[in-house]
Amino acid sequence: MRTSKRVAVIGAGSMGSQAMWRLAARGAEVIGYDRYAPGHDRGAAGGETRIFRAAHLGEHGYIPLLRLADRMWEQLQAETGRSLRRRSGCLVMGETASPSMRLLLSSSATHRLDHEVLDRAELGRRYPQHRLPDGHTAVLDRMGAVIRPEASIQAAAARAEQLGARLHRYTPVREIAPAAGGGVRIVTDHGTDHVDAAVVTVGPWINTLLPDLPRTVDVRRVICSWHLPTRHDWFAGGAPPFVRSTPHDCFGIPSPDGISVKLGLSFARHQPVPEPERLDRTVRPEELGTFRELIRELMPDLNPDPVRLSAYMEGYTESGNPLVGHLPGEDDIVVMAGFSGSGFKLSPAMGEIAADLALDGTTDHPADFLAAKTGAPS
Ligand SMILES: Cc1cc2nc3c(=O)[nH]c(=O)nc-3n(C[C@H](O)[C@H](O)[C@H](O)COP(=O)(O)OP(=O)(O)OC[C@H]3O[C@@H](n4cnc5c(N)ncnc54)[C@H](O)[C@@H]3O)c2cc1C
Repeated sequence: MRTSKRVAVIGAGSMGSQAMWRLAARGAEVIGYDRYAPGHDRGAAGGETRIFRAAHLGEHGYIPLLRLADRMWEQLQAETGRSLRRRSGCLVMGETASPSMRLLLSSSATHRLDHEVLDRAELGRRYPQHRLPDGHTAVLDRMGAVIRPEASIQAAAARAEQLGARLHRYTPVREIAPAAGGGVRIVTDHGTDHVDAAVVTVGPWINTLLPDLPRTVDVRRVICSWHLPTRHDWFAGGAPPFVRSTPHDCFGIPSPDGISVKLGLSFARHQPVPEPERLDRTVRPEELGTFRELIRELMPDLNPDPVRLSAYMEGYTESGNPLVGHLPGEDDIVVMAGFSGSGFKLSPAMGEIAADLALDGTTDHPADFLAAKTGAPS
Protein backbone atom coordinates (compact mmCIF):
# COMPACT_ATOMS: atom_id res chain seq x y z
CA MET A 1 0.00 0.00 0.00
CA ARG A 2 1.25 3.56 -0.82
CA THR A 3 2.05 5.80 2.12
CA SER A 4 2.45 9.52 2.74
CA LYS A 5 4.87 9.06 5.64
CA ARG A 6 8.12 11.00 5.87
CA VAL A 7 10.90 8.60 6.88
CA ALA A 8 14.58 9.25 7.62
CA VAL A 9 17.20 6.59 6.90
CA ILE A 10 20.36 7.25 8.87
CA GLY A 11 23.34 5.53 7.23
CA ALA A 12 23.09 4.74 3.50
CA GLY A 13 25.42 1.73 3.61
CA SER A 14 24.60 -1.96 3.12
CA MET A 15 21.25 -1.96 4.95
CA GLY A 16 20.34 1.72 4.67
CA SER A 17 20.63 1.97 0.87
CA GLN A 18 18.26 -1.01 0.55
CA ALA A 19 15.87 0.46 3.14
CA MET A 20 15.81 3.71 1.14
CA TRP A 21 14.98 1.77 -2.04
CA ARG A 22 12.14 -0.19 -0.44
CA LEU A 23 10.68 2.84 1.37
CA ALA A 24 10.78 4.98 -1.78
CA ALA A 25 9.16 2.14 -3.76
CA ARG A 26 6.25 2.27 -1.31
CA GLY A 27 5.77 6.00 -1.82
CA ALA A 28 7.33 7.25 1.42
CA GLU A 29 9.05 10.62 1.44
CA VAL A 30 12.54 9.34 2.15
CA ILE A 31 15.38 11.46 3.51
CA GLY A 32 18.68 9.64 3.75
CA TYR A 33 21.83 10.76 5.53
CA ASP A 34 25.33 9.35 5.26
CA ARG A 35 28.54 10.28 7.02
CA TYR A 36 30.30 9.69 3.67
CA ALA A 37 28.64 8.64 0.36
CA PRO A 38 27.20 5.36 -0.95
CA GLY A 39 29.86 2.76 -1.78
CA HIS A 40 32.67 4.10 0.45
CA ASP A 41 35.22 1.72 1.98
CA ARG A 42 35.37 2.95 5.61
CA GLY A 43 32.67 0.79 7.19
CA ALA A 44 31.44 -2.79 6.89
CA ALA A 45 30.97 -2.99 3.14
CA GLY A 46 34.34 -2.47 1.41
CA GLY A 47 36.61 -4.94 -0.37
CA GLU A 48 34.80 -5.63 -3.68
CA THR A 49 33.10 -8.95 -2.91
CA ARG A 50 30.64 -10.58 -0.50
CA ILE A 51 29.42 -14.19 -0.37
CA PHE A 52 25.77 -15.14 -0.82
CA ARG A 53 24.72 -18.58 0.46
CA ALA A 54 21.31 -20.28 0.65
CA ALA A 55 21.99 -21.82 4.04
CA HIS A 56 23.24 -20.23 7.22
CA LEU A 57 25.73 -21.95 9.49
CA GLY A 58 23.98 -20.56 12.57
CA GLU A 59 20.18 -20.97 12.47
CA HIS A 60 17.46 -22.50 10.29
CA GLY A 61 15.44 -19.29 10.80
CA TYR A 62 17.59 -17.48 8.25
CA ILE A 63 16.58 -19.72 5.36
CA PRO A 64 13.25 -17.95 4.54
CA LEU A 65 15.01 -14.58 4.87
CA LEU A 66 17.75 -15.75 2.51
CA ARG A 67 15.08 -16.86 0.02
CA LEU A 68 13.49 -13.41 0.26
CA ALA A 69 16.91 -11.80 -0.20
CA ASP A 70 17.59 -14.05 -3.19
CA ARG A 71 14.42 -12.82 -4.94
CA MET A 72 15.12 -9.22 -4.05
CA TRP A 73 18.67 -9.31 -5.39
CA GLU A 74 17.14 -10.36 -8.71
CA GLN A 75 14.58 -7.54 -8.47
CA LEU A 76 17.24 -4.91 -7.74
CA GLN A 77 19.29 -6.07 -10.72
CA ALA A 78 16.20 -6.04 -12.97
CA GLU A 79 15.13 -2.55 -11.85
CA THR A 80 18.59 -1.02 -12.16
CA GLY A 81 19.93 -2.98 -15.13
CA ARG A 82 23.13 -3.53 -13.14
CA SER A 83 25.02 -6.79 -12.67
CA LEU A 84 25.40 -6.96 -8.89
CA ARG A 85 25.51 -10.66 -8.12
CA ARG A 86 27.08 -13.56 -10.00
CA ARG A 87 25.81 -17.08 -9.35
CA SER A 88 28.99 -19.08 -8.72
CA GLY A 89 28.06 -21.70 -6.12
CA CYS A 90 29.81 -21.62 -2.76
CA LEU A 91 31.96 -24.31 -1.14
CA VAL A 92 31.40 -24.79 2.58
CA MET A 93 33.99 -26.95 4.33
CA GLY A 94 34.42 -27.93 7.95
CA GLU A 95 34.76 -30.67 10.53
CA THR A 96 31.93 -33.13 9.79
CA ALA A 97 31.09 -33.58 13.48
CA SER A 98 31.02 -29.85 14.30
CA PRO A 99 27.62 -28.33 15.23
CA SER A 100 27.74 -25.87 12.32
CA MET A 101 28.43 -28.54 9.67
CA ARG A 102 25.82 -30.87 11.19
CA LEU A 103 23.29 -28.03 11.07
CA LEU A 104 24.21 -27.29 7.46
CA LEU A 105 23.82 -30.93 6.42
CA SER A 106 20.48 -31.29 8.24
CA SER A 107 19.06 -27.97 6.94
CA SER A 108 20.11 -29.00 3.46
CA ALA A 109 17.80 -32.04 3.67
CA THR A 110 14.93 -30.39 5.65
CA HIS A 111 14.73 -27.31 3.45
CA ARG A 112 15.57 -29.06 0.18
CA LEU A 113 18.51 -26.80 -0.50
CA ASP A 114 20.39 -27.32 -3.74
CA HIS A 115 23.47 -28.76 -2.07
CA GLU A 116 25.97 -31.38 -3.22
CA VAL A 117 28.22 -33.17 -0.73
CA LEU A 118 31.73 -33.72 -2.12
CA ASP A 119 34.15 -36.27 -0.71
CA ARG A 120 37.85 -35.59 -0.71
CA ALA A 121 38.45 -37.32 -4.06
CA GLU A 122 35.67 -35.38 -5.79
CA LEU A 123 36.76 -32.08 -4.25
CA GLY A 124 40.31 -32.80 -5.40
CA ARG A 125 39.12 -33.56 -8.93
CA ARG A 126 36.92 -30.46 -9.30
CA TYR A 127 38.66 -27.97 -7.03
CA PRO A 128 42.30 -29.08 -6.71
CA GLN A 129 43.22 -25.75 -5.14
CA HIS A 130 41.56 -26.82 -1.85
CA ARG A 131 42.82 -29.40 0.68
CA LEU A 132 40.30 -31.24 2.85
CA PRO A 133 41.72 -32.53 6.18
CA ASP A 134 40.65 -35.93 7.60
CA GLY A 135 37.22 -35.84 9.21
CA HIS A 136 36.12 -32.78 7.18
CA THR A 137 33.24 -32.51 4.69
CA ALA A 138 32.79 -30.23 1.69
CA VAL A 139 29.36 -29.05 0.53
CA LEU A 140 28.75 -27.19 -2.71
CA ASP A 141 25.84 -24.77 -2.22
CA ARG A 142 24.66 -24.29 -5.80
CA MET A 143 22.68 -21.15 -4.87
CA GLY A 144 25.91 -19.55 -3.69
CA ALA A 145 26.94 -16.33 -5.41
CA VAL A 146 29.38 -13.45 -5.27
CA ILE A 147 27.90 -10.00 -4.66
CA ARG A 148 29.60 -6.68 -5.49
CA PRO A 149 28.99 -4.63 -2.33
CA GLU A 150 30.03 -1.14 -3.46
CA ALA A 151 28.10 -1.44 -6.73
CA SER A 152 25.05 -2.82 -4.90
CA ILE A 153 24.96 0.04 -2.40
CA GLN A 154 25.35 2.62 -5.15
CA ALA A 155 22.67 0.92 -7.26
CA ALA A 156 20.14 0.70 -4.40
CA ALA A 157 20.76 4.34 -3.37
CA ALA A 158 20.53 5.55 -6.98
CA ARG A 159 17.29 3.62 -7.51
CA ALA A 160 15.88 5.16 -4.32
CA GLU A 161 16.83 8.64 -5.56
CA GLN A 162 15.24 7.87 -8.93
CA LEU A 163 12.05 6.98 -7.03
CA GLY A 164 12.11 10.34 -5.25
CA ALA A 165 14.32 9.81 -2.17
CA ARG A 166 16.71 12.59 -1.13
CA LEU A 167 20.15 11.69 0.21
CA HIS A 168 22.34 14.06 2.22
CA ARG A 169 25.90 12.89 1.50
CA TYR A 170 28.80 13.72 3.87
CA THR A 171 26.23 14.60 6.53
CA PRO A 172 26.69 12.72 9.81
CA VAL A 173 23.63 12.67 12.04
CA ARG A 174 24.68 13.91 15.48
CA GLU A 175 21.53 13.11 17.42
CA ILE A 176 18.24 11.31 16.99
CA ALA A 177 15.41 11.59 19.51
CA PRO A 178 11.61 11.36 19.78
CA ALA A 179 10.06 14.74 18.93
CA ALA A 180 7.66 16.50 21.29
CA GLY A 181 4.20 15.89 19.79
CA GLY A 182 5.21 12.71 17.90
CA GLY A 183 7.66 11.64 15.24
CA VAL A 184 11.43 11.88 15.38
CA ARG A 185 13.93 14.73 15.51
CA ILE A 186 17.13 14.36 13.45
CA VAL A 187 20.01 16.70 14.22
CA THR A 188 22.91 17.33 11.80
CA ASP A 189 25.51 20.11 11.55
CA HIS A 190 23.13 21.89 9.15
CA GLY A 191 20.02 21.93 11.36
CA THR A 192 17.15 19.80 12.65
CA ASP A 193 14.65 17.79 10.58
CA HIS A 194 11.36 16.31 11.76
CA VAL A 195 10.11 13.03 10.33
CA ASP A 196 7.33 10.54 11.12
CA ALA A 197 9.72 7.61 11.56
CA ALA A 198 13.44 6.82 11.35
CA VAL A 199 15.47 3.77 10.36
CA VAL A 200 18.91 3.67 11.96
CA THR A 201 21.41 1.67 9.89
CA VAL A 202 24.77 3.16 10.89
CA GLY A 203 26.60 -0.20 11.06
CA PRO A 204 29.85 -0.02 13.06
CA TRP A 205 28.98 3.51 14.26
CA ILE A 206 25.91 2.27 16.15
CA ASN A 207 27.35 2.78 19.66
CA THR A 208 28.34 6.36 18.79
CA LEU A 209 24.79 7.34 17.75
CA LEU A 210 22.79 5.07 20.10
CA PRO A 211 24.94 4.30 23.15
CA ASP A 212 22.04 2.71 25.11
CA LEU A 213 21.08 -0.23 22.91
CA PRO A 214 19.32 -3.17 24.61
CA ARG A 215 22.22 -5.47 23.66
CA THR A 216 25.93 -4.92 23.19
CA VAL A 217 27.28 -4.54 19.68
CA ASP A 218 30.99 -5.28 19.78
CA VAL A 219 32.69 -3.41 16.93
CA ARG A 220 35.73 -5.19 15.51
CA ARG A 221 38.42 -4.46 12.92
CA VAL A 222 38.27 -7.03 10.11
CA ILE A 223 41.30 -7.48 7.87
CA CYS A 224 41.39 -8.97 4.38
CA SER A 225 44.41 -10.19 2.46
CA TRP A 226 44.61 -10.76 -1.33
CA HIS A 227 46.89 -13.53 -2.73
CA LEU A 228 47.95 -14.64 -6.20
CA PRO A 229 47.50 -18.31 -7.25
CA THR A 230 50.69 -20.02 -8.39
CA ARG A 231 49.44 -22.97 -10.49
CA HIS A 232 45.71 -23.69 -10.37
CA ASP A 233 42.97 -21.71 -12.06
CA TRP A 234 40.81 -20.34 -9.23
CA PHE A 235 38.63 -18.45 -11.70
CA ALA A 236 37.38 -21.42 -13.79
CA GLY A 237 34.29 -23.56 -13.08
CA GLY A 238 32.15 -20.72 -11.72
CA ALA A 239 34.99 -19.52 -9.43
CA PRO A 240 33.10 -20.43 -6.25
CA PRO A 241 33.98 -18.59 -3.06
CA PHE A 242 34.50 -20.75 0.01
CA VAL A 243 33.82 -20.76 3.72
CA ARG A 244 35.83 -22.92 6.14
CA SER A 245 33.93 -23.40 9.39
CA THR A 246 35.34 -24.94 12.55
CA PRO A 247 38.22 -25.16 13.28
CA HIS A 248 39.68 -22.89 10.59
CA ASP A 249 36.98 -20.19 10.53
CA CYS A 250 37.94 -18.31 7.41
CA PHE A 251 36.59 -17.49 3.96
CA GLY A 252 37.93 -16.76 0.50
CA ILE A 253 36.64 -15.20 -2.71
CA PRO A 254 38.29 -15.26 -6.14
CA SER A 255 38.38 -11.57 -7.17
CA PRO A 256 36.17 -10.44 -10.05
CA ASP A 257 39.26 -9.13 -11.88
CA GLY A 258 40.52 -12.73 -12.16
CA ILE A 259 43.88 -11.84 -10.61
CA SER A 260 43.87 -12.71 -6.91
CA VAL A 261 41.94 -14.49 -4.15
CA LYS A 262 40.72 -12.49 -1.15
CA LEU A 263 41.00 -14.17 2.26
CA GLY A 264 39.26 -13.16 5.49
CA LEU A 265 39.07 -14.45 9.04
CA SER A 266 36.28 -14.99 11.57
CA PHE A 267 35.27 -12.95 14.63
CA ALA A 268 37.65 -14.45 17.20
CA ARG A 269 40.65 -13.08 15.33
CA HIS A 270 39.43 -9.49 15.05
CA GLN A 271 40.66 -6.63 17.23
CA PRO A 272 38.16 -4.31 19.01
CA VAL A 273 37.56 -0.83 17.52
CA PRO A 274 37.10 1.71 20.34
CA GLU A 275 36.39 4.64 17.97
CA PRO A 276 35.12 3.90 14.45
CA GLU A 277 36.32 7.25 13.12
CA ARG A 278 39.86 6.30 14.15
CA LEU A 279 39.95 2.81 12.64
CA ASP A 280 43.55 1.73 12.06
CA ARG A 281 43.46 1.01 8.33
CA THR A 282 47.08 -0.14 8.10
CA VAL A 283 47.63 -3.90 8.30
CA ARG A 284 51.03 -4.69 9.80
CA PRO A 285 53.28 -7.66 8.81
CA GLU A 286 52.86 -9.27 12.26
CA GLU A 287 49.11 -9.61 11.57
CA LEU A 288 49.70 -11.96 8.64
CA GLY A 289 50.69 -15.13 10.51
CA THR A 290 47.19 -16.65 10.50
CA PHE A 291 46.82 -16.16 6.74
CA ARG A 292 50.17 -17.87 6.19
CA GLU A 293 49.17 -20.85 8.34
CA LEU A 294 45.82 -21.24 6.58
CA ILE A 295 47.49 -21.09 3.17
CA ARG A 296 50.12 -23.66 4.15
CA GLU A 297 47.58 -26.12 5.54
CA LEU A 298 44.55 -25.68 3.26
CA MET A 299 45.41 -23.92 -0.02
CA PRO A 300 49.17 -24.15 -0.66
CA ASP A 301 48.59 -23.02 -4.24
CA LEU A 302 48.27 -19.42 -3.02
CA ASN A 303 51.41 -17.35 -2.67
CA PRO A 304 51.55 -16.43 1.05
CA ASP A 305 52.96 -12.96 0.27
CA PRO A 306 49.88 -10.74 -0.11
CA VAL A 307 49.48 -8.34 -3.01
CA ARG A 308 46.95 -6.20 -1.15
CA LEU A 309 45.79 -5.70 2.46
CA SER A 310 42.80 -3.78 3.80
CA ALA A 311 40.98 -3.19 7.09
CA TYR A 312 37.23 -2.72 7.58
CA MET A 313 34.84 -2.82 10.56
CA GLU A 314 31.80 -4.85 11.58
CA GLY A 315 29.50 -4.97 14.62
CA TYR A 316 29.10 -8.34 16.34
CA THR A 317 26.49 -9.46 18.89
CA GLU A 318 27.04 -12.22 21.40
CA SER A 319 24.51 -14.55 19.71
CA GLY A 320 25.66 -13.66 16.20
CA ASN A 321 22.11 -12.51 15.39
CA PRO A 322 21.60 -8.84 14.50
CA LEU A 323 19.33 -6.43 16.35
CA VAL A 324 16.35 -5.88 14.06
CA GLY A 325 13.33 -4.03 15.41
CA HIS A 326 11.99 -0.95 17.14
CA LEU A 327 14.06 0.62 19.88
CA PRO A 328 12.48 -0.25 23.23
CA GLY A 329 9.70 2.25 23.97
CA GLU A 330 10.17 4.07 20.63
CA ASP A 331 7.55 3.02 18.08
CA ASP A 332 8.91 5.44 15.47
CA ILE A 333 12.58 4.38 15.57
CA VAL A 334 13.70 1.17 13.86
CA VAL A 335 17.23 -0.09 14.39
CA MET A 336 19.22 -2.64 12.39
CA ALA A 337 22.73 -3.35 13.66
CA GLY A 338 25.22 -6.03 14.64
CA PHE A 339 25.12 -8.17 11.49
CA SER A 340 28.07 -10.14 12.84
CA GLY A 341 29.97 -10.79 9.64
CA SER A 342 27.13 -12.21 7.55
CA GLY A 343 24.67 -9.40 6.85
CA PHE A 344 25.42 -8.36 3.30
CA LYS A 345 23.68 -11.28 1.61
CA LEU A 346 20.52 -10.42 3.58
CA SER A 347 20.59 -6.67 2.92
CA PRO A 348 17.70 -6.37 0.41
CA ALA A 349 15.50 -8.49 2.70
CA MET A 350 16.48 -6.22 5.59
CA GLY A 351 15.53 -3.20 3.46
CA GLU A 352 12.08 -4.69 2.92
CA ILE A 353 11.67 -5.47 6.63
CA ALA A 354 12.84 -1.95 7.57
CA ALA A 355 10.18 -0.48 5.27
CA ASP A 356 7.49 -2.70 6.86
CA LEU A 357 8.52 -1.77 10.40
CA ALA A 358 8.81 1.97 9.68
CA LEU A 359 5.55 2.24 7.72
CA ASP A 360 3.28 -0.43 9.27
CA GLY A 361 4.88 -0.98 12.68
CA THR A 362 5.16 -4.71 11.98
CA THR A 363 6.26 -7.17 9.30
CA ASP A 364 4.88 -10.44 7.94
CA HIS A 365 8.38 -11.66 7.12
CA PRO A 366 9.69 -14.18 9.66
CA ALA A 367 12.18 -11.91 11.42
CA ASP A 368 10.77 -12.23 14.94
CA PHE A 369 13.49 -14.65 15.94
CA LEU A 370 16.05 -11.87 15.45
CA ALA A 371 14.12 -9.42 17.60
CA ALA A 372 13.34 -11.92 20.37
CA LYS A 373 16.87 -13.20 20.68
CA THR A 374 18.52 -9.79 20.59
CA GLY A 375 16.15 -8.27 23.10
CA ALA A 376 14.88 -5.71 20.58
CA PRO A 377 11.10 -5.86 20.49
CA SER A 378 9.68 -6.28 16.99
C1 LIG B 1 35.66 -7.85 5.53
C2 LIG B 1 34.21 -8.25 5.64
C3 LIG B 1 33.76 -9.33 4.91
C4 LIG B 1 32.42 -9.70 4.97
N1 LIG B 1 31.98 -10.74 4.21
C5 LIG B 1 30.65 -11.00 4.14
C6 LIG B 1 30.16 -11.96 3.20
O1 LIG B 1 30.93 -12.57 2.47
N2 LIG B 1 28.82 -12.14 3.12
C7 LIG B 1 27.94 -11.44 3.91
O2 LIG B 1 26.73 -11.66 3.78
N3 LIG B 1 28.38 -10.53 4.81
C8 LIG B 1 29.70 -10.28 4.93
N4 LIG B 1 30.17 -9.33 5.79
C9 LIG B 1 29.23 -8.62 6.64
C10 LIG B 1 28.52 -7.49 5.93
O3 LIG B 1 29.38 -6.81 5.04
C11 LIG B 1 27.96 -6.55 7.00
O4 LIG B 1 27.12 -7.31 7.86
C12 LIG B 1 27.18 -5.39 6.43
O5 LIG B 1 27.97 -4.70 5.48
C13 LIG B 1 26.72 -4.46 7.54
O6 LIG B 1 26.00 -3.41 6.96
P1 LIG B 1 25.59 -2.10 7.78
O7 LIG B 1 24.57 -1.41 6.94
O8 LIG B 1 25.22 -2.50 9.16
O9 LIG B 1 26.93 -1.22 7.87
P2 LIG B 1 27.63 -0.32 6.73
O10 LIG B 1 27.51 -0.96 5.40
O11 LIG B 1 28.98 0.03 7.23
O12 LIG B 1 26.74 0.99 6.67
C14 LIG B 1 26.70 1.94 7.71
C15 LIG B 1 26.57 3.32 7.06
O13 LIG B 1 26.21 4.27 8.05
C16 LIG B 1 26.91 5.47 7.78
N5 LIG B 1 26.95 6.25 9.03
C17 LIG B 1 27.59 5.93 10.17
N6 LIG B 1 27.34 6.84 11.15
C18 LIG B 1 26.49 7.74 10.60
C19 LIG B 1 25.84 8.91 11.10
N7 LIG B 1 25.99 9.30 12.38
N8 LIG B 1 25.07 9.63 10.25
C20 LIG B 1 24.89 9.24 8.96
N9 LIG B 1 25.48 8.13 8.44
C21 LIG B 1 26.25 7.38 9.26
C22 LIG B 1 28.28 5.01 7.30
O14 LIG B 1 28.94 6.01 6.56
C23 LIG B 1 27.88 3.79 6.44
O15 LIG B 1 27.67 4.16 5.08
C24 LIG B 1 31.52 -8.98 5.80
C25 LIG B 1 31.99 -7.90 6.55
C26 LIG B 1 33.32 -7.52 6.47
C27 LIG B 1 33.80 -6.34 7.26
